[in-house]
Amino acid sequence: MLTTLKRIVQEVNQIPVLDDALSCLAKRLIEALKVDSCSIYLADYDQQHFLLSATQGLASEAVGAVSIGFSEGLIGLIGQREEPLNISDAPSHPRFKHYPEVQEDRYHAFLGAPIIHQRKVLGVLTLQQQKKRRFSEDEEAFLVTLAMQLAVEISNAQARGSITSLTENVPKDWQKSLRGVPGSSGLASGLGYIQNIMVSIHNHVHGRCEDPEHEVYIYRLAVKQTQQDMTELSAKMKGQLPDDVSAIFQLYHHLLDANSLGREVEVKISEGWDAPTSLKMVVENYIRQFQAMHDPYMRERAVDVEDMGNRVLANILGLNTSESAQREPPNKAILIAEEVTAAMLAEFPSEKLQGIVSIRGSSNSHAAIMARAMGIPAVMGVSNVPMNLLSGKEILLDGYTGDVIVSPDVTIRQEFEQLVVEEQLLSDKIHAQDDLPAVTKDDCRLSLLVNAGLSIEAENNIHPASDGVGLFRTEIPFMMRQRFPTEQEQADLYRQLLEAEPSKSFTMRTLDVGGDKPLPYFPISEENPFLGWRGIRLTLDHPEILLVQIRAMLRASFGLQNLKIMLPMVTSVSEVSEAKRLIRQAFYELEEEALAQGQTLLMPKIGVMLEVPAVIYQLPQLSKIVDFFSVGSNDLTQYLLAVDRNNPRVSGLYDSYHPAVLSALSTIAKHAGLLQVPITVCGELAGEPGGVVLLLAMGYRNLSMNSHNLLRVKWVVRNITQSESEQLLAKVLTLNNPQDVREEVNIYLESSGLGGLVRAGI
Ligand code: PEP
Ligand code: MG
Repeated sequence: MLTTLKRIVQEVNQIPVLDDALSCLAKRLIEALKVDSCSIYLADYDQQHFLLSATQGLASEAVGAVSIGFSEGLIGLIGQREEPLNISDAPSHPRFKHYPEVQEDRYHAFLGAPIIHQRKVLGVLTLQQQKKRRFSEDEEAFLVTLAMQLAVEISNAQARGSITSLTENVPKDWQKSLRGVPGSSGLASGLGYIQNIMVSIHNHVHGRCEDPEHEVYIYRLAVKQTQQDMTELSAKMKGQLPDDVSAIFQLYHHLLDANSLGREVEVKISEGWDAPTSLKMVVENYIRQFQAMHDPYMRERAVDVEDMGNRVLANILGLNTSESAQREPPNKAILIAEEVTAAMLAEFPSEKLQGIVSIRGSSNSHAAIMARAMGIPAVMGVSNVPMNLLSGKEILLDGYTGDVIVSPDVTIRQEFEQLVVEEQLLSDKIHAQDDLPAVTKDDCRLSLLVNAGLSIEAENNIHPASDGVGLFRTEIPFMMRQRFPTEQEQADLYRQLLEAEPSKSFTMRTLDVGGDKPLPYFPISEENPFLGWRGIRLTLDHPEILLVQIRAMLRASFGLQNLKIMLPMVTSVSEVSEAKRLIRQAFYELEEEALAQGQTLLMPKIGVMLEVPAVIYQLPQLSKIVDFFSVGSNDLTQYLLAVDRNNPRVSGLYDSYHPAVLSALSTIAKHAGLLQVPITVCGELAGEPGGVVLLLAMGYRNLSMNSHNLLRVKWVVRNITQSESEQLLAKVLTLNNPQDVREEVNIYLESSGLGGLVRAGI
């Protein structure tokens, strides 16, 4: 069964047009299961009905013509119940409804399975047979498995399809609304700009052609261009390449040869497909063949075949990648990327960067945190959109809601401009309170610190209204290089930072790579990176890296008194003891050097991040060996809720307002108070208006946030009271789900005159 299933899925996946793929599926299922009829109905939520979209065994004229209401007949029942239905005699079922056009009178046995993707019913897959019989359990399990696999394909095809018709001959007044998730708040407008156009045959949308001769012509031209590119590239690299890499160039030439791949592409064109689609079909087929090979070396070559396919496609589309890499970004650019990286943001001219649209990623990924740190509005996870479609188009981006409007019409643009004006007014109001202290209306004072290190700018200017740096993420300088930075390089950077405001405390976190923060020169491949080798686990295994970093921090602090060192991802007390041993070692090594220079070297305060749930139960033990705690609410949420904060499939479940997270935060604050250990919160929650209210109520008095949120948070603090926030907390701790908590918190913010921020409450 498994082989049959795989074979069918593989064959169907190869067909780019959804309708063709579905009718092939129906045909193959009839053959494989020896049944009389197979049909697929797709849901249309606008019309509230299922449309017969493919069939083998029912009247073919009914395809595209017969629709069944969401609450009608057996199909409607399957959709409503979201479970399979297996009956030996369909006509005698009370929900059976007769549709004469489909001509199913001769069938009795009926098996149907819902096609569901991310909780949404996309359609129904049915089998029918003349004989009265119940389908076997095996048949039922087979259909359910197939329906699950089909769901992903249908969802992708539908998302692509809604855009396909627009990619061809896009009319001048075309406008498209896309939905992602809010990554960084704010409104932005500008022209879509793709930094490095990465053409991918996998993302290419299919198309038919009218003029096959012309398609063959442009295909051949593109191949010629690619051959020329490859010749130039291999000449440029001559002598520098090992033999096996040179062999790859040979493979490219061989594949591009008119007699191998070329012939097959031209056959597809003659069947009516356009050149990019024909290339996609042939190349994807080759990729599958390479991937299925036994020899690991040959299997690896699938990547080369794909790369070659992408190069030819780029040339067909007139997007020569080397040229595009050198294009100048427009003055007001919305950066479009498959996935935003630190390097990409660092390279991009910041004066031109208005907003970010990331095809992948979620609001909790580091890319989003980075965008927030830079104060750049961002929308994440706008998946299923061919990036090329956004390039060069006017884009309006709403980082509060996750909306992206491409090529807006005049009315939308005017509405958007009005929102920008309102936002500016709010921002002016907030800025007017710049110099005032962060004190609640009932006189409770908070210390507001900044998180720094995620962007080059933020590194060098600590917010003047802040009380210091509560978290300096040291990993970015490591990520920006081709090798580990030397002790001197690190010391120079750290010195500059510590010296900038010597009277304000500066908490440096030791290297926290791993998870979603890989180092390009130290690749770690793990099945489960967030539960793997990251933070202190990695640096304790490599004391040579940790010692160099600590020495650099200590050296940078000669003559100063503001350095604090913080350890990330701590799970056990022994990790802290071990790290402290290394810190002491570095301290003694450097003490003499400081003395020789006539400088003082103070032992810095050492703290741990509370982000792994295990440490919540070890606070008394930890309190004996550290000077401070800092709650990393981002990871604490991720680990408490067992939700990978970067995985869009489950990112909806990631929520720091989850009652369990709030309860954990509350417990931590209480214990830290009893143990008299200073405590800060440095996760994103500390920079959100609602988070501030709840943290204040729990007893937190030190909050560290990205500097763009600092004045906003101060404004919140100055407009609330500790006593009211405590009442609110008592209430929300009794609630069952994050949405209810959010609602209560928003009501409180509104009642405190902070309604303007509720909209911006990410
Ligand atoms: C956290 O986990 O809350 C935190 C501040 O660390 P990072 O986001 O860098 O993992
Ligand atoms: Mg963390």
